[in-house]
Amino acid sequence: MLERDIPEVLIGNGNKRVHYNGSFHANEWITTPVIMTFLNDYLLAITNQADIRGLAMFPFYQQSMLSIVPMVNPDGVELVLKGPPADESLRGRLIEWNNGSEDFSGWKANINGVDLNDQFPAKWELEQARNNVTEPGPANYPGEGPLTQPEAIAMSELTKRSDFGKVLAFHTQGRSFIGGLKVWNHPSRKR
Ligand SMILES: [Zn+2]
Repeated sequence: MLERDIPEVLIGNGNKRVHYNGSFHANEWITTPVIMTFLNDYLLAITNQADIRGLAMFPFYQQSMLSIVPMVNPDGVELVLKGPPADESLRGRLIEWNNGSEDFSGWKANINGVDLNDQFPAKWELEQARNNVTEPGPANYPGEGPLTQPEAIAMSELTKRSDFGKVLAFHTQGRSFIGGLKVWNHPSRKR
């Protein structure tokens, strides 16, 4: 909505397609610096033919193509870190969606008050019924339908054209990190 780019970093020289993403949820923005720190360590290890935790990294570079989207929800992250934008109408609407509060530290959604993690077409209706949130807000509003939000559409398009074998979506809760691992099986291939 605020017309920010959502960059993807591609690194590798192989056929195994692996994808990481962070900050689907705005208040879990710390997943982005964690991923960027890993990226820095990985690039240094490749450049210097070094290990990470005893594992040589260069073979991974040769065998895989790693796709990283460090920040899926940049508008939401900015809202959490810097508060609502100056624009009066947008500001007023966001504070209303945030139950009248100017404290956006618990905001998970994007700038439209839609929870991007609930925008997937797979069983969207079930998710909608389970959440039972019918208005935009800080969390758990799945939107008026699947894939209505630009961030979700962008991730869907990326996934469709990239044919990932593995996807790691980084989330946090309290003081713990959660890496959701999704492995898609391709019947026609061996991975
Ligand atoms: Zn999350």
